[in-house]
Order: sequence, then C-alpha cells, then structure tokens
Amino acid sequence: MTEISDDLLTQCMHCGLCLPVCPTYALTGLERSSPRGRIRLMKSVMDGTLPVSQTFKYEMEFCLDCQACQTACPAGVKYGELVESARIFIESGEKGFSAKRFILKKIFAGKNGLRIAAAMLRFYQKSGAEKVVLMFSKRFPRWIFNRARLLPRLSRKFSIDILPEEVEPRHETRGTVAVLTGCIMDAIYADVNVDTVEVLAENGWRVAVPHAQVCCGSVNGHSGDVEAAKSLAAKNIHAFEKTGAAYYVVNSAGCAAFMKEYGKLLEDDPQYCGRAKEFSAKVKEFSEFLFETGFRKPRTKLGVPVTYHEPCHLVHTQKISVQPRAIVNEIAGDNYHELNEATWCCGSAGIYNVTHYDDASKLLERKLGNIGQTGAKMVITGNPGCMAQIAAGVKNDGMDVEVVHPATVLNRLYKIDKA
Ligand code: SF4
Ligand code: SF4
Repeated sequence: MTEISDDLLTQCMHCGLCLPVCPTYALTGLERSSPRGRIRLMKSVMDGTLPVSQTFKYEMEFCLDCQACQTACPAGVKYGELVESARIFIESGEKGFSAKRFILKKIFAGKNGLRIAAAMLRFYQKSGAEKVVLMFSKRFPRWIFNRARLLPRLSRKFSIDILPEEVEPRHETRGTVAVLTGCIMDAIYADVNVDTVEVLAENGWRVAVPHAQVCCGSVNGHSGDVEAAKSLAAKNIHAFEKTGAAYYVVNSAGCAAFMKEYGKLLEDDPQYCGRAKEFSAKVKEFSEFLFETGFRKPRTKLGVPVTYHEPCHLVHTQKISVQPRAIVNEIAGDNYHELNEATWCCGSAGIYNVTHYDDASKLLERKLGNIGQTGAKMVITGNPGCMAQIAAGVKNDGMDVEVVHPATVLNRLYKIDKA
C-alpha cells in the first residue's frame, strides 16, 4: 500500500491557525473535520494506532482539498499533498469494484468517454427531456432532484472541433503559445476557450491548439487514481511538445495547478521525468500569463458593478491573486466591488458538489450571500467548476448576476473597442 509521508505529517505543530479558514471545520465545528484533525487522523493510521475506518475515509473525502489551510499555515505544511496521498492510500487498499473510479476513468481517461457523455447530455437538454425531468423532479428522490438542477448548459460543440491547430497572431508576433482546451471547460464553456485563443492572438501570440491533447488528469488524480492521471499527463506531454510553444496557457485554475505538478507526478518515471519537469515549467495560468507578459488594456470599461471570486486552485494552490485582480481592476475601473470572503470555497471543488451536495450547497449559499452584498451584476472568476457552481446558485436564487471568465470579458471589450 502507498504510504503517506511521515516527513510531511510531522511538519504540523498543531497550532490551529488553519482552523478559522477551513470551510469543513466551519460546517461541523468538529476537530476531525479540520486540517489539524485530519493530519492527526492520517498520522494515527500511518502509525497503526487507528484502523482505516469509515470515519477516516469519510473525512478524507469530506475535505474539499481547497488548500486554504495551506495558505494560512505558518509551518508550510503541504496539506494538499497530504490529503491527496491519503486518498491514494485509501484507493490502493480498496479491494473490488469502485463505481466512482470506473465512471471517472471511463469519462475522463477513456478514449471517447467525455464525448459520449457530452453527446448524451446534449440530447437530454435539446430533446426537451431535461425540462420534463425538472418539471416533475420534485417527485424524484431529493438526491436526483438536487443534482438535476446543477447541470449547466452543454456547449453545442467542443472548441477543439472548431479551432484550427494554429491561429495566427493579429499583430506583430511575440512568439508561440499552446492552449489547453480541457474537458469540463470544453464540454460546458467551449466559448471561453475560443475567447482565450482570440485574446492571446489579439495580444500578438501565435496560438497552437494541439488536437491530440487530452484531459489534464486532475479529476482522476484528485480522486486517488494516480495511474490514470499519469497516463493522461504523458499524452499531453507528447501533444504539447510537438507545438514548439514557449508557454502552455491554461484558462482553468484547477487544470493549471495540476499541470504545474506533472514534474512531481512523473518523477519516478524514467521515460518522462525530465520531460514532465520541462513541461510544468512552461505552464502558465491565463491571468498569470497576461500579467507577466503584458496585455493590451481595453479602452472600453465595464459598465456594470463587478466583483471577483478567487478559485481555490488559483489563490491557494498556485498563489495567484494579484494577477487576475490586476486584469479585473483594469477592465472594471470604478465599477469594482470587493467580495467579502473572496477566497472562501464556493463548494464546487471538482465533483464535490455532486458527491457532497448538501455540504456544497451550504458553502454556495454563503458565497451567494456575499455576492448579493456587493450589488454586483457580474462575477468574474477563472475556473469552470466555480463558474458552473455560482451560475447554478444565482439562477436558482433568481439573482440578476452574470458569471464570466476573465478571457470572455476581455474579448468582449476588445470587440467593442474595434466596433
Ligand atoms: S496551521 Fe499548519 S502547523 Fe498549525 S495546525 Fe494547521 S497545519 Fe498544523
Ligand atoms: S483543504 Fe480546505 S477543507 Fe480541507 S482541511 Fe484544508 S481548509 Fe479544510
């Protein structure tokens, strides 16, 4: 069985400074649902003084892996690494069939899994079946009703089927970048990928869209299926290397965070360890890239009150906060309104809002309350999970708020400038 590193576990000095920032501790008030409590549970299991109990498994899954505790920790405890190791440890000890692992592998790591799932969901939405289900859904068990309402509108087509493998820059060339179109991002927000490519081209970059790319592997990796994640990472290394790009730009916070860790993921693989490190060094999250390389400031400013939600895997995992805020401030001007608890998880957390619907809903209501207080008509955020979660919440609560990716806002303003 895979072990959880004792060096990482013993870094924790049990000070408790992480407790006030932990959303699951705020939900239960239980020590075992806090970062410190979970670290104690992991240490006890590793020392053999606690069995791999249902409580232990529950707490490792109940954790959002939002890594707010990592930001707060004065001892530099790598909590994200710990909880992911704990999940791999649990997964490696599981015997028999796991429906969750099977479904995730088929959808995200299989050859056509995502395409088949997206085609079925598109048919469900286009045929009118969704309307019927939602109309009568109160008669279904609550767990089906609640989740049916979460489903966002699927993109009509994947952006990877629309975009050519190379898009020329609109101005003097500054170099070549390659973009990840992703899986969830492409299935739900293909238009954000098109906006991303257009914004990069507008800023003088030749944009490669490698058609052989696959899912980044984060969904499988965060669920403990590390082998599936490694296999996807290797395929992306092949696909992106061929572009010869100087940077790999990723518009999904969660995917960028995971791709920056390919070097670590494949460090024991003699074939890929060096290439994975080089790959990760080239990965830039969208706002990070524009901030570092410079971007054309749109002349037009947004005319509605705007706020910004910080995705956990951007602010906590990658420590990227100044960069997207600089973009938002540039395009919003005096219309910017700071969001209270901007770094508090919205409850999306990968597939957490599906697997832990009730807990995720409480976090979403807290987020919506804070958004309501700003008076904003637009929430800008750079992660597809957060976008879908907050958009489902505002729709459900009848709020007049649009949820938008920074690339989309920038592209809209560039187009207005040109009109
Ligand atoms: S803040 Fe860090 S050192 Fe303190 S209890 Fe939390 S994880 Fe441990
Ligand atoms: S990752 Fe988030 S939910 Fe998990 S222990 Fe840390 S702060 Fe709490």
